[in-house]
Amino acid sequence: MAPTSSEAKAVSAVHVGHFENTGDTSHAFGKRVLEEKAKFVPWLDSDDPVIVANTLINLCHRTLFLLRRQVDALGQRFLDEGGFKEHMHRCREEARSQAPQAPECPVCGKSMRSCTAKSGPKAGHRFWGCRDFPACKGIRELAEKA
Ligand SMILES: [Zn+2]
Repeated sequence: MAPTSSEAKAVSAVHVGHFENTGDTSHAFGKRVLEEKAKFVPWLDSDDPVIVANTLINLCHRTLFLLRRQVDALGQRFLDEGGFKEHMHRCREEARSQAPQAPECPVCGKSMRSCTAKSGPKAGHRFWGCRDFPACKGIRELAEKA
């Protein structure tokens, strides 16, 4: 099948439709693939191996075009929205901005951090502990503000 043959023109003219995600992705996509494949059956089932091979090459070119378009879109999204680490950083900053502000230590005045008692009669109890622990043993109740 030469590039200008009637078969080549016919294969190139086959329109592959847009896939609409309906939520039932695996079933809908599998059904869609079979429907799209059926459009190429006249050439894929040809007795002429050259026509079959050229049809497969045409399908490979189409696939590469779609993959390139997808990679370009991902690249643009990276430029517009940033990468994974930037997204995680934004999520962390947002969570921190909503977290209660840490009070000052009643003993040394340094910033405190939320802690959970690991043992003793108050095991599992949450409280504010001094960031300078173990040098400073200052604590506050979690609901307590400085
Ligand atoms: Zn302290």
